[in-house]
Amino acid sequence: MPKIAVLTSGGDSQGMNSAIRAVVRTGLANGFEMLGVRRGFKGLMDNDFIELGSKEVSDILYRGGTFLQSARSEAFKTPEGQDQAIKHLQSRAIDYVVVIGGDGSYRGAQALQNKGIKTFGLPGTIDNDIPLTDYTIGFDTTLNVVTDAIGNLRDTMSSHERVSVIEAMGRSCGDIALQAGIASGVDAIIIPEVEADLDKIAKDLKAGFERGKSHSIVIVAEGAGNAVDVAKVLKEKCGLDTRPTVLGHIQRGGTPSAFDRVFTSRLGHHVIELIKQEITGVALGIENNQITYHSFNEIFAAGRNINEQLYHIFNDLI
Ligand code: ATP
Repeated sequence: MPKIAVLTSGGDSQGMNSAIRAVVRTGLANGFEMLGVRRGFKGLMDNDFIELGSKEVSDILYRGGTFLQSARSEAFKTPEGQDQAIKHLQSRAIDYVVVIGGDGSYRGAQALQNKGIKTFGLPGTIDNDIPLTDYTIGFDTTLNVVTDAIGNLRDTMSSHERVSVIEAMGRSCGDIALQAGIASGVDAIIIPEVEADLDKIAKDLKAGFERGKSHSIVIVAEGAGNAVDVAKVLKEKCGLDTRPTVLGHIQRGGTPSAFDRVFTSRLGHHVIELIKQEITGVALGIENNQITYHSFNEIFAAGRNINEQLYHIFNDLI
């Protein structure tokens, strides 16, 4: 029986479990033997494999995090680390490896592929920073978490006539801040892809309060600055009571949204379809609601730009 190993790597994201379940159940239904690797590439080097039957992936569809656990491993970036991992894969006669992780994990997946292991990538990161996919696994759930948090902050800010400066995750990508900002009707967004004009934001905040607003919300992506500094500068410039909130790891938690569960079910299912078509060495994503795939090289070459249409929509709606 051909064998497939699945691992999760880098920062966890809601929907990773659902992706594992989809790969495993579809693989089993098509006659593959399925294995899980615990703690990402570290587990590959440590020979930390578990057998995965249908029962092992029961009751995980709606759980955040990853039951295989995730890790970051500097040792795997070295040729020696990769060779050690490949030795274990070969001794177990594993034919395919599915890596669920972010762009760093894709580099690791590509390294395996370049050394002759048939590898797939699934975009497991809340950041939405992977090229050639409209969404990454967990992004939608995180948007909902951030949108709920902004709603909670709005209540208290309004009672005290304050400005809330909220820091969202996303590394060098502003998508969480931008889309949560649109979903929440915030007053300003500060994202790494666009230079921020803090003088203008402060002026607009002040004008809003003068018109009778009871509160204002500014969302800042972590790649563009931190909430504490931005709140301090805005307070100095506009004189309003300005409070920072760093949402932090709460953004990576919670039960995956229905979108993330369906999306990951489609991704996992499609991996097995590609194996049947003898297509390997690719990362999967979703473009225009179709599951698509590209070689790792194509993805690294593509780069990722801000969704300009969404940015314009935001600006027209404030
Ligand atoms: P997130 O976007 O959530 O941070 P990520 O997958 O980008 O997830 P990283 O820490 O960048 O997270 O990468 C995860 C792991 O992938 C690393 O710890 C390392 O083991 C492996 N990896 C990263 N870069 C490389 C590389 N250039 N070559 C081989 N392996 C790599």
